[in-house]
Amino acid sequence: VSVGILMWRQPPKHKEWKGPGTTAHFYEILLGRCYTYTQVVRPELRHTDCQKIGKAFTSAFLSKDPCGSTEQDYRPLMELTTQTVPCDKTLFWSKSSELAHDYTWVQRDMYTLEDTLLGYMADGLKWCGDSGSSEMNYQSCPHWREDCSNNSVSVFWNTVSKRFAEDACGVVHVVLNGSISNTFDEKSTFGRVEVFNLHPEKVHTLKAWVMHNIESVPSDSCSSSSLNNLKQILKTKNIIFVCQNNYRPVRLLQCVKNPEHSSCR
Ligand code: NAD
Repeated sequence: VSVGILMWRQPPKHKEWKGPGTTAHFYEILLGRCYTYTQVVRPELRHTDCQKIGKAFTSAFLSKDPCGSTEQDYRPLMELTTQTVPCDKTLFWSKSSELAHDYTWVQRDMYTLEDTLLGYMADGLKWCGDSGSSEMNYQSCPHWREDCSNNSVSVFWNTVSKRFAEDACGVVHVVLNGSISNTFDEKSTFGRVEVFNLHPEKVHTLKAWVMHNIESVPSDSCSSSSLNNLKQILKTKNIIFVCQNNYRPVRLLQCVKNPEHSSCR
């Protein structure tokens, strides 16, 4: 007798979302980056317990609704990872990730969020869990615009960006992209979270470097209305605003990739 094999579609294990799922090997990458950072990049942090940090990270979102994420979920993780950036050395960025990180790679005493442990561990990764399962969802995760804004990844970045800004002191810096129309975007993490969480008692000046892509026509500069908006917001906070177009040390990094351009000669 031939035995018919009954085949049926497996019901989906997790809820289906519009965004890409958890990065493959998420936990291994997270732990590996924690060890790289604390043993190699900043050996003064070599006594950090990466296992504990890794567990606190995943406990913040596993077995939970990925659209119901809160700052409190990440509190235990935040408490395990306090790190001080020296005054005058904080660098924010908005729509200029690559250039800002190229700069701190060379100017090693300046720190973006991604040059601190938590930012370093999470940069570029995606993650989410599911309320009906204790596993990560590798199939899909909430898309922040199409599904929900309080998803596990967005809430993480809002939480760490907020603390990064609260901790800043002295002169703070920001690399902005002058080749887009909204160089200062009030809806960006920089505009929505970081600027509003600077403490005027500690931060007296914000220096903006508005950078134009070498190949494209400049769209915004220090004198544009979006930058004026930033200036006004800082004024209400009693923080001095200084702005410079194409700050030369950063310009020189752009020129490495385009040495023959007239603006690089
Ligand atoms: P940006 O618009 O260039 O965004 C940076 C990254 O965050 C992009 O990948 C973008 O898609 C994503 N993003 C922005 N808002 C989001 C949201 N609400 N939900 C999910 N993803 C979102 O620049 P920005 O928004 O001003 O953020 C940069 C600043 O904030 C930096 O100063 C940094 O300290 C911090 N930050 C870093 C990251 C990161 O991925 N490393 C993400 C958010 C914020």
